Amino acid sequence: MSVLTEPAPGHAPDRATLAAALRHANMPSLVPVLYQLTGDRRWLAEPYRPTRSRGMEDNDPGGFGDAVRDEICEATADAVLAWSAGRAPAVPSPTGAELVELLELAVGEEVPAEYGEMAADDMGFAPAEPTPTVPPTDFRVIVIGAGVSGMLAAIRLAEAGIDHVVLEKNDDVGGTWLENAYPGAGVDTPSHLYSYSFAPRPWSTHFGKRDEVLAYLREVADDHDLRTVIRFGTEVTAATWDDARQRWTVTTAGGETLEANAVITAVGQLNRPKIPDLPGLGDFTGPLFHSARWPADLDVTGKRVVIIGTGASAMQIVPAIAGTAERVTVFQRSPQWAAYNDVYFTPVDDAVTLLMEHVPFYRRWYRTRLAWNTNDRVHPSLQVDPDWEHPERSINAVNDAHRRVFTRYLQAELDGRDDLLAKALPDYPPFGKRMLLDNGWFAALRRDDVELVTEAVAAVTPTGVRGVDGTTVDADVVVLCTGFETHKLLHPMDVCGRGGALRDIWGPDDADAHLGISVSGFPNLFLTCGPGTVLGHGGSYITIAECQVRYIVDALTTMVTEGLGAVDVSPEAHAGYVARQDDAHSRMIWTHPGMQNWYRNAAGRVVCTLPWRIVDYWAMTRHVDWDAFSVEPAR
Ligand code: NAP
Repeated sequence: MSVLTEPAPGHAPDRATLAAALRHANMPSLVPVLYQLTGDRRWLAEPYRPTRSRGMEDNDPGGFGDAVRDEICEATADAVLAWSAGRAPAVPSPTGAELVELLELAVGEEVPAEYGEMAADDMGFAPAEPTPTVPPTDFRVIVIGAGVSGMLAAIRLAEAGIDHVVLEKNDDVGGTWLENAYPGAGVDTPSHLYSYSFAPRPWSTHFGKRDEVLAYLREVADDHDLRTVIRFGTEVTAATWDDARQRWTVTTAGGETLEANAVITAVGQLNRPKIPDLPGLGDFTGPLFHSARWPADLDVTGKRVVIIGTGASAMQIVPAIAGTAERVTVFQRSPQWAAYNDVYFTPVDDAVTLLMEHVPFYRRWYRTRLAWNTNDRVHPSLQVDPDWEHPERSINAVNDAHRRVFTRYLQAELDGRDDLLAKALPDYPPFGKRMLLDNGWFAALRRDDVELVTEAVAAVTPTGVRGVDGTTVDADVVVLCTGFETHKLLHPMDVCGRGGALRDIWGPDDADAHLGISVSGFPNLFLTCGPGTVLGHGGSYITIAECQVRYIVDALTTMVTEGLGAVDVSPEAHAGYVARQDDAHSRMIWTHPGMQNWYRNAAGRVVCTLPWRIVDYWAMTRHVDWDAFSVEPAR
């Protein structure tokens, strides 16, 4: 399967096929389509208004009875066939109040006006801003990394006409999706949202597995001819700014140096495995590896596997290997909250793909509803209520209600297994650590051949893993699902700017940046997935990457067209942004003392996650805030 293209008139399926497919439509996404095609306002009123969806569920039938559903489907079939035969859509590009009205119809609740602007942009309804392009120039950019963000940067730089090269340490594109090849690996953001806005795909499942995500990224790379600008097998070890020459010099592991006017880092935050400091790690005689280094040729059939850690990676690996391995023993340091999603395992119906291919606007509404339901929905409930009566278990009434829902789910899943319930039920607030989706984790824990151990790991022995109580679990394979060096951003590269080395300025675990993108004293350096920009509250990282790359390419095109040689965010602007970020975090859930998470550092400062709503970050990064920068003409 390849990338989806926009439906085009003249290719509609026959009426019976279309009508049959429409019966599988997500009805709240379909009603605004019907309005756009016909312009008939009766579709905006009762009885055609879908009900509100609660939480993340898909809300397919929209709360309609059969008769109304049939009426909408029939009318849509007529409208699509008329459109395919040449009738122009009555409302091709709703924006402003009209779009907000349609959004409210589709999601069944009030939508603040600012979401209309963001949706108009994502849906392609906003008047297209001219793609910034530059005249031929010798201005050159080095992009470090060819994962989701680096590929995006390369695509946008090419569109802008800016010369660039991408340096990638691996031998292929894909970044995290190339490296994390463990059994069960996949997204837990809905796939139609975990896609570039400009490259939709007919996903086979609602939550794409690793092979499909990697195939998608490879297709995007091919479609945009990215491999011609990527140098694979080229790891960057250092980048140094030369003030006099207004250039970055980038050094590779092979000892080569390359020069550029600007550098974009696209190395992610979840890239460098965090290996626990356990005695005996090197003594184990069988395969022992980090989850992101799963050996391609490893067969765990009939093997005794020890898993250390219970984060998102472990949660996917354990259900995937349980039943194949002879025995799986999981060492848990902290339990995790995991939510249920009713379409987690459901394939996307072919009919739905047909609708996306042939019904104009349908895919855009489908994605927009997903965005509404996952982007900022829980953000308000992650704010601490200072008067809340149960601050030890939750942070406000809604968070407490979430706790009840997730607890009930966990109790139902572990019904009859009080031993497991006692181990698996977290005592900290839900969302305090990264929220997980249950992909069969609790079902796996219930198995006779899976054991959950809450004893801390004391050491690895030649033949297994020893807990602090002295018991040893024999193993053939040990998997360290222990996460990543999230606080050491850009690690292990040496990045030196005007004021010295970034690792000295940031220290071992205290990175910050203006908008997560620019660091004062490091001119012409732009970070994607920088400090304070990981999503802890929901949504798709690709949305954030698109915000950042748009901002960065805006800055670079301005530099070229205005003849700027160095742009450096001012210390005041940088510090002001970080103060606002820290202040926002001080009132949010991730500073709660009841748990550890990979978002905050040893001093308790939240380093990794975005405190803002996605719509706010979208607005902040819409255009470069030049007042925050000191600029120098090119020398
Ligand atoms: P993680 O969430 O950081 O989990 C690491 C686990 O290892 C935790 O359970 C941690 O315990 C445990 N641990 C660390 N050191 C330990 C030690 N010395 N002894 C015992 N246990 C130890 O790492 P991850 O699972 O690789 O996930 C990282 C992030 O990657 C996720 O949060 C997510 O953002 C992303 N991810 C996403 C997906 C997906 O979309 N489905 C899948 C995989 C990863 P504590 O909890 O006590 O610290």
